[in-house]
Amino acid sequence: MKRNINCPCGANFTIEYEEEINLDNEEKYLEQIFNGTFMSYNCSFCGKKHKPELKITVIWKSKNLKMKVIPELDRGEFYRNKKEASQFETIIGFPEMADRLAVIKDDLEPVIIETLKSLLLAKAAENYPDKDVNAWYYGKGPSGIEFHLDGIKVDEVAVMRIPMEMYEKKLDDYKKRPKSDVFPLLRVRSYLSVQNMLRPDALK
Ligand SMILES: [Zn+2]
Repeated sequence: MKRNINCPCGANFTIEYEEEINLDNEEKYLEQIFNGTFMSYNCSFCGKKHKPELKITVIWKSKNLKMKVIPELDRGEFYRNKKEASQFETIIGFPEMADRLAVIKDDLEPVIIETLKSLLLAKAAENYPDKDVNAWYYGKGPSGIEFHLDGIKVDEVAVMRIPMEMYEKKLDDYKKRPKSDVFPLLRVRSYLSVQNMLRPDALK
């Protein structure tokens, strides 16, 4: 697929990208997504870095994953278009794509990770009511699951850890009672994300 990019310097250039990527066959993509170089293009005239968010499909058969990634700019349209029924999971924006792929790579249950984010964000909203805070999965280690919260301080993330026991407890709850807790609130059709709980009323 080809796409035209207009650079603020006045240059106009064409990029070429894959509309569908397969993570089993092309491991380089996963690496690029995690290190932030995925779909990153430099203007050949002024050198400015462009990271256009375009619609792509991500297939990761060995992890039983098929997802459509739509640009952050299309978030409102996704909520308004109530008819959409898809056999694919939906993810909105490249940062969320990188987050979800990291969760799946670590063999964690995305519903539980989003649940834990909702707890962290509820706490952050109490402590920093005027801030627009976001929580991201960072990794899992011996001391638990690590999340990074941005938006509290400029250019700084707050590191939060949740013990593995709490993850296991929530996972157990979810398996027994998938309609309890915040679990049903985390999903809108094909889209699972804590963002569904945070969206403004206009998008409900
Ligand atoms: Zn340029």
